[in-house]
Amino acid sequence: MLPLKDKDKVLVQKLLTSGCCPRCVLRFCCINVQSAYKRPPQEILKELKEFIGDNSTVEISETKTQTDADAGQDAAEAPPPKRFKPDEAEPTREEESPVCVLCLGILQEHCDQTLVLKMAEAVKAEKYEFDTLVLSVSLPAQLCVREHSCWLHVKTELREKSLVLGKDDVIQVKEAFKWVMQSLVSRALGGAAVVARSAFEIGVEFVHPETDKDCHFLATTCSDCFKPTKNKESVFTRMAVVKALEKISEANFLKHYPSPPARPSSSCESRDVQCLHTSVFIAGRYNKFCRSLPQTPWLIAGERRMESSVEELIAGPILDTFRATGFNFSSSGREDVDVRTLGNGRPFAMELINPHKSWFSREQIKQLQQTINSASDKIRVRDLQIVTRDAMGRMKEGEEEKTKTYRALVWTEKPIQKEDICFLNDIKELTLDQKTPLRVLHRRALAVRPRMIHSMSSEYRDSHHFYLALKTQAGTYIKEFVHGDFGRTKPNMGELLQTEADILELDVESVDVDWPPPIPE
Ligand code: ZN
Repeated sequence: MLPLKDKDKVLVQKLLTSGCCPRCVLRFCCINVQSAYKRPPQEILKELKEFIGDNSTVEISETKTQTDADAGQDAAEAPPPKRFKPDEAEPTREEESPVCVLCLGILQEHCDQTLVLKMAEAVKAEKYEFDTLVLSVSLPAQLCVREHSCWLHVKTELREKSLVLGKDDVIQVKEAFKWVMQSLVSRALGGAAVVARSAFEIGVEFVHPETDKDCHFLATTCSDCFKPTKNKESVFTRMAVVKALEKISEANFLKHYPSPPARPSSSCESRDVQCLHTSVFIAGRYNKFCRSLPQTPWLIAGERRMESSVEELIAGPILDTFRATGFNFSSSGREDVDVRTLGNGRPFAMELINPHKSWFSREQIKQLQQTINSASDKIRVRDLQIVTRDAMGRMKEGEEEKTKTYRALVWTEKPIQKEDICFLNDIKELTLDQKTPLRVLHRRALAVRPRMIHSMSSEYRDSHHFYLALKTQAGTYIKEFVHGDFGRTKPNMGELLQTEADILELDVESVDVDWPPPIPE
């Protein structure tokens, strides 16, 4: 039994006569019992007809009657009603209902196993792994116009009988569609729960070119609602249409659009099913042991300069494991191609776009880390772990204030003794003025930045070489501090030693960012 009340009689009668499908009638009767929608439409229709006391084998939607209020303008604008299957010679049987004026077939032929199978195939073809999913439905914007038209159509008569029907009380097509489809989809996908929020989404989009023009009059009556935007192919987005419908007066709407809406000759088409998993984030620390490995792929005029990069060596196995379609790599600072990163390594994080598999145990992530490490001796990864998007922000937090330690091999033009470089060990909190280095001037604005060297220590090697250990503020250009960059960094090592100095090798010894948390090996 449908939970209908006596007062619904007039509404049911009017909706059926206007060409609404049984489920749309339930929607307009504000029935929010999900099971009612899951019943076969023919059954619902039979009960609706019994309810209004109509026992004839009527073709409900063919007997279009118009109320006196809207008859005049409708006749001029509405196309003549057409049959659902115009080429069918046999007389239409009762159970073959024409396309609904409101949902354009979405709650009729699209609410069944055919679409469910199409969804299940799309998911299986891409081998997604998930426990829950969210069903997303994109409807043609003109459905809002049709809904509005039908609402105005029934509202007047209800009001005469002192009944009211709030537009917001009407159950939305989207909602009714989900009520019918949810359990079918769940069953087809081996029991995965269809929920309101999930990282995995299956999307269906319906289009109905035949009635696309339904919205067009709104562009002249409410032109300010329809502003062209870069990414949308049409200005008639659902949002814009809803906004325009809120603005337009009833009289103005009825002047431009038939009420009830005209009958369509065809049903909606469903576009390809789209599956999407939200991004997963993974973080860790890396060492770079090679002086000829750039951090990111090094391309000059489209041509590769180095055969690999830190980013590729790390990302390759991760992408394969998560079966993601893309990634964004970021790290706490970066090193030059000829600089090694030793010690605990440099924190990095990766966004994995549309991963087809997203759940891994700690053990599996450890395995993945081993796969990365055994594939190349140029890099090494530690502390690999899945993190949240928010946690990633911590890597960039206060990056400027962090300290980094380095070890440089310095060459001097003048011969040196051990005693000549001892004084460096006593220098603390030395402020440098660093003009943007010549080598990065092509991509950074020219500026003078103060940078701090917290401490230094020297280790004599021979008369022209010594090792220099430095603890500095992040962002200090070490190479420039040593060779002076033609006087653009002041003071510099050459000035301190009163000779020309150059840097032969540089290693990052530590990046003092306490994220991500260490993972015991
Ligand atoms: Zn319908």
